[in-house]
Amino acid sequence: MSIVLVGGGHAHLKCLLDIRKKTLSKHNILLISPNRYQYYSGMFSGYTEGLYSIDEIRIDLKYMAEEAGVTFIEDKVTEVSISDKTLMTKAGTSIPFSVVSFDTGSLIEGPSSFKDYLVQIKPNYLFVEKMKEYRNVEFPVVVGGGASGVEIALAITAWRKKNGYPTNVALITSSKLLPSSSSKASRLIREITMRKGLSVIEDDSVEEMNESHVLTQNGSNLPHSQVLWLTGPSSPDIFKRSSLPCDQNGFLLVEKTLQAKGLPFIFGAGDCMTLEAFPDLPKNGVYAVRQAELLWKNITSYLQGEKCTPFSPQRHFLSILSTGNKEALLQYGRFTAHNKLAWKLKNKIDVSYMKKYI
Ligand SMILES: Cc1cc2nc3c(=O)[nH]c(=O)nc-3n(C[C@H](O)[C@H](O)[C@H](O)COP(=O)(O)OP(=O)(O)OC[C@H]3O[C@@H](n4cnc5c(N)ncnc54)[C@H](O)[C@@H]3O)c2cc1C
Repeated sequence: MSIVLVGGGHAHLKCLLDIRKKTLSKHNILLISPNRYQYYSGMFSGYTEGLYSIDEIRIDLKYMAEEAGVTFIEDKVTEVSISDKTLMTKAGTSIPFSVVSFDTGSLIEGPSSFKDYLVQIKPNYLFVEKMKEYRNVEFPVVVGGGASGVEIALAITAWRKKNGYPTNVALITSSKLLPSSSSKASRLIREITMRKGLSVIEDDSVEEMNESHVLTQNGSNLPHSQVLWLTGPSSPDIFKRSSLPCDQNGFLLVEKTLQAKGLPFIFGAGDCMTLEAFPDLPKNGVYAVRQAELLWKNITSYLQGEKCTPFSPQRHFLSILSTGNKEALLQYGRFTAHNKLAWKLKNKIDVSYMKKYI
C-alpha cells in the first residue's frame, strides 16, 4: 500500500512531523516535490527586505522526509489516473498509489499577453532568487493590492531605502488597497504607503504592457523593468486535466474531511483545493496551517476504516502584514493597529513556526 504526498506545502510538512512520531509500518510513504526546499511565504516580505537569510525561510524537505522514514522524490506530478490509481510525473515516471494527498499550493497567473514581462515567483521556490534580482531593478512595478502585493511592494521599498536605491516602487490595483479588509484598514494602509514612499494607483487596471512601459485603463503610463504580478491565486491545471472533481476555477473540490468529492482515497489541503462547504474561504497560509492539523489524522482514519473528522474553519483569523522597518499592520476581526509590536508578534509567530521544521 503506497501513500503518496504530492507537494511540500504546510499540511504535508505537518504530516511529516506526525509520521515521524507514529509510523504506519504497513505503508510505503512517498513525498514528491519539484524542489528539495520548501520556502515559507510568511517570511517572504522579511526576506525581501533583507531581515532574514535564505536558510531562515526554507525547510529541507528531503531531510525531513528521511527523518520520518518517507521516501523523497524530487519531481513534479503532472497527471493523475483515477482508474488505475497512478500518478504521472514530469520525469516520465508512473507512481502507483492507494491513497494520494495534494498540497501543491496555487499559481499566480497574469494575462498571457503580458507573460514575457512578468517575474515568475511561483512555485514558491522561485521566489528567493527572483526577488534578490528584482528588488534592485530600475523601475519596480507591482500589480495587486491584496495582502501579498502590498506587503512585498512595501518590503521592496524598505530594502531600496536601506540600500541607497531610489524608492520609486509603484503599485497598481484595480480596487482599493486590501479590498477584503475593513475600510478602516484600507484607509490606514493607504496612509502608511504614502508615508513610506510607495506610489499607489488604486481603482485602475493594467490595460497594455510592452518591454518598457505599463499603460493603465485610466491613462497612467509607467516605466517598468519587469512587473511583479501579485493578484489572487489561480489553480494548477493538473486537477482539471485529470478529470478530478473541481470548482469552477479548477481547484480540487473537497469535502469537509479534506477528501475529494466522491473520491475518498484522494485528499487535498491548502491553496490547491476548495472546500465545497466553504467555497469563499480565503486561500492563505493561515487556513493551510489549520488544515495541516487534521490531514494526517484523516488519512490514517480512512486507512483504518474509521470516520474522518470534518474541518471547521475559524470565523476570524489574525492577520499581520509587515509594512517595512519592523512595523506591521495587525488585524483581528474589527481590531486594527499599526506599530512595531505587531511586527514583533509576527516575527515571533513565524520564527517559532520555522523552528518546528529546521
Ligand atoms: C508573495 C506572497 C506572500 C505571502 N504571504 C503570506 C503571509 O504572510 N501569510 C499567509 O497566510 N499567506 C501568505 N501568502 C499566501 C501563502 O503563500 C499560501 O496561501 C500558502 O503558501 C499555501 O500553502 P500550501 O500549503 O497550499 O502550498 P505552498 O506553500 O504553495 O506549497 C506547495 C508545494 O507544492 C509543490 N508543488 C507544486 N506543484 C506540484 C506538483 N505538481 N507536484 C509536486 N509538487 C508540487 C511546490 O513546489 C511547493 O513545495 C503569500 C503568498 C505570496 C505569493
